[in-house]
Amino acid sequence: MESIHTHFIRIQEQITQAEKESSRPPHAVRLMAASKQQPIDIIEEAINAGMNLFGENKVQEAQAKWPALKEKHPHIQCHLIGHLQSNKCDEAVALFDCIHSLDSIKLAECLKKSMTKQNKEVPCFIQVNIGEEPQKDGVLPAELPALMQACQALALPIIGLMCIPPENEHPDLYFALLKKLADRYQLNQLSMGMSHDFNTAIRFGATIIRVGTALFGKRETLV
Ligand SMILES: *Cc1c(COP(=O)(O)O)cnc(C)c1O
Repeated sequence: MESIHTHFIRIQEQITQAEKESSRPPHAVRLMAASKQQPIDIIEEAINAGMNLFGENKVQEAQAKWPALKEKHPHIQCHLIGHLQSNKCDEAVALFDCIHSLDSIKLAECLKKSMTKQNKEVPCFIQVNIGEEPQKDGVLPAELPALMQACQALALPIIGLMCIPPENEHPDLYFALLKKLADRYQLNQLSMGMSHDFNTAIRFGATIIRVGTALFGKRETLV
């Protein structure tokens, strides 16, 4: 079996190549390891391979894994990339360095409260339901202006947009649309691209790609 280190080197080469081909500066793209369902020893293997940014989907799972990891590796960052319930805002603000899944005014208000209470600013991405899929999280593109306005009124630190395009469709148009929306609000970060489409995402301006399978191998069960 190939090691995480081998995968990491290969993915980095692909990122460098995609940056070049799309005339983007070197290191324009950050690689995030999507470490849902990965146990602590596997995460440590990824840290030893050189990974310094991780993404978790669930607050509870991250709470079980990350306090110990952070104590041992203080320079490692962990971002929340999965859906956040408003009753978990305190925990999320305490634990994560960044939140990629802000998608409602209610959640924006709760996050603001938690940040104020803890005197901690956690930068946020707004997740956009870019394919307007009924089962997906994220704010609909048509509702983004109202959410942006609410976030501005709350002085929430919004740094970019995040999306997961519909499965089994070419992601190009969706990535291009997210880029266009981000430009409209002068947001310069784009969290988009996963194992199967990060090359395309980089061509359309991704600044953080979230890679699980290509780094760790196939997960046991689907989330
Ligand atoms: C699991 C996950 C990823 C990584 O997916 P892979 O296809 O395994 O690379 C990226 N983003 C989110 C939000 C995820 O839940």
